[in-house]
Amino acid sequence: MTRTHAPQPADAVRADIAARVEGEMTRLLYRAAGFGLFSNFVLALVLVAGVWTYFPARLTLGWLAVIFVLSVVRLLLNRAFDRRARRDDELGAWRVAFCTGVVLAGVVWGVGTWLFLDTPELLPRCLVILIISGMNAGAARSLAAVRLCYVAYTVTTLGPGAVAFMSYHEVGSWTLAGCTITYALFLHNTARLHQLDLQKLFRLIFENEELVSTLSDAKRRAESANQAKSEFLATMSHEIRTPMNGVTGMLQLLQDTPLTAEQQEQVGIASKSAGTLLHLLDDILDLTKVESGQLDFEEIDFSPEELVEEVAALCSTPASLKGLPLHFRPGPGLPPLVTGDPMRLRQVLLNLIGNAVKFTEQGSVEISLGVVRSDARTAVLHFAVKDTGIGIDAATQGRLFQKFMQADSSMTRRYGGSGLGLAISQSLVRCMGSEIKVESTPGQGARFHFDLTLPRAETAPVPPPAPAETRGRLQGRVLVIDDDWGSQRVVEMFLRKTGLEPVIVNNGVEGAQLAVHEEWAAVLMDLEMPGMDGLETTRRIRRQLQDQPLPIIALTANVRPEDRAASAAAGVDDFLAKPVRQDELRACLEKWVKPAQ
Ligand code: ADP
Repeated sequence: MTRTHAPQPADAVRADIAARVEGEMTRLLYRAAGFGLFSNFVLALVLVAGVWTYFPARLTLGWLAVIFVLSVVRLLLNRAFDRRARRDDELGAWRVAFCTGVVLAGVVWGVGTWLFLDTPELLPRCLVILIISGMNAGAARSLAAVRLCYVAYTVTTLGPGAVAFMSYHEVGSWTLAGCTITYALFLHNTARLHQLDLQKLFRLIFENEELVSTLSDAKRRAESANQAKSEFLATMSHEIRTPMNGVTGMLQLLQDTPLTAEQQEQVGIASKSAGTLLHLLDDILDLTKVESGQLDFEEIDFSPEELVEEVAALCSTPASLKGLPLHFRPGPGLPPLVTGDPMRLRQVLLNLIGNAVKFTEQGSVEISLGVVRSDARTAVLHFAVKDTGIGIDAATQGRLFQKFMQADSSMTRRYGGSGLGLAISQSLVRCMGSEIKVESTPGQGARFHFDLTLPRAETAPVPPPAPAETRGRLQGRVLVIDDDWGSQRVVEMFLRKTGLEPVIVNNGVEGAQLAVHEEWAAVLMDLEMPGMDGLETTRRIRRQLQDQPLPIIALTANVRPEDRAASAAAGVDDFLAKPVRQDELRACLEKWVKPAQ
């Protein structure tokens, strides 16, 4: 049975379970009654046949007729009960009706016992005693669910026999009566124990159901809250990225114009703040993915040494701006190629090296990569980043990998950052089967390190895409389908700077029409637009153009992997995330558009 659960107080849950147990015991009475009714009638026939020669036919047949009528009535009652599922709160009346039937049957059997014991012959008397004892033994199980019902049954069936024995003036008649009463008490005890077992069993079943249901409710609630959180963050990220496209794009264009020193500084600060905001958005999105277990790890062959070198080169600019030497020391015997996710590893190293540079004013930053163990199939690599910066005290080290953790609040003002980088890095490294560790002495620096077990790669590495040979101007008309005014202006100016001629439309319907009726070097497609969205517009263009080639490049703030997959499925050729940088847009267009002659 599925139940919907609002949280209930413990007492209400207990009362509910007690009511369900009682209801189930009543259902059990009806379920067990079928065979009882059948044997009841057969045994009545056997008894009548056995005593037939000793008693007048009218008496035996009359008794049999009463048993028959009663059995039919009880059978009909059973049928009526079975006709449909009954709620627990309906069952009280059905229990009373069933017990009334049982007590009436007991009375009729008791009368039969009294009548058929009234003979000096041994056979009928033994038969009566055997049948009545057997029926009581059987009922100890089938009627145990409602104990009062069983008590009434034994009293009405065995009682007349015991009284009859007591009324005999024979030796041993009181012993017989005593045996009958002892037998009844013994059966009662059996029925009582059986009833307790049944109650316990049903209670356990219902408590278990309740627990499972509460747990799955809690799980469902937690899952939907988590889902809502992820969707909210994805939406927020999209909503913020779209206007950011305008901000960063315009700042880049502004930087290329003649500016006074003061203006240049102002634009520089604005660009840096925009970059920080974008970084924060990326971190938050990563964190939601890590928390909801949506992170996919790729298996790509790469050179670990080249990867670390590349990250070190990336961080060397901010380091040299601070006059900080950045050393990379690759150890001996490094495997030329391993299989793993180089992007995720790069993300972790970028964070660790970036922090080392950020929190060090004097001294140096050292990156080392070594082999801990290696065999023909796998290599255990040790990555370490050591700096001579401000260091981290023991208390802070304990909570360093928690979300939004910064050594103190003045950090944000002095060094910037969100306190998410290490939490994400640790989650990524954990997903790769390891853990980042830290050693540090405040004032002397910190050392972050981790081991990774990676399979050695057998195949040759995929060569990186050849750099575009041309940095000259491109030529052709580019159709921009985007509803956001800021994005339109930025892309328009970027395109003009590369020598391309932009044509802007702000909705999918018009865009699709223009795309198929005129000549284009490429189409830049926003995915989220009111009315017909970018995916539908792309599908319509592809349908109408059939096999005619036309590069369609998605330019969107929807940056999740599922957005990329949906774009590719709709017929998009390439994907650019908003806010787009001028060099990114250019590099992408160089793949698809002819250079100027
Ligand atoms: P963020 O650097 O964006 O604030 P992180 O999660 O990368 O976030 O780092 C969290 C905090 O850990 C930092 O704010 C800083 O207090 C401390 N920390 C991280 N790396 C270093 C380091 N190399 N030296 C000193 N403190 C560090």
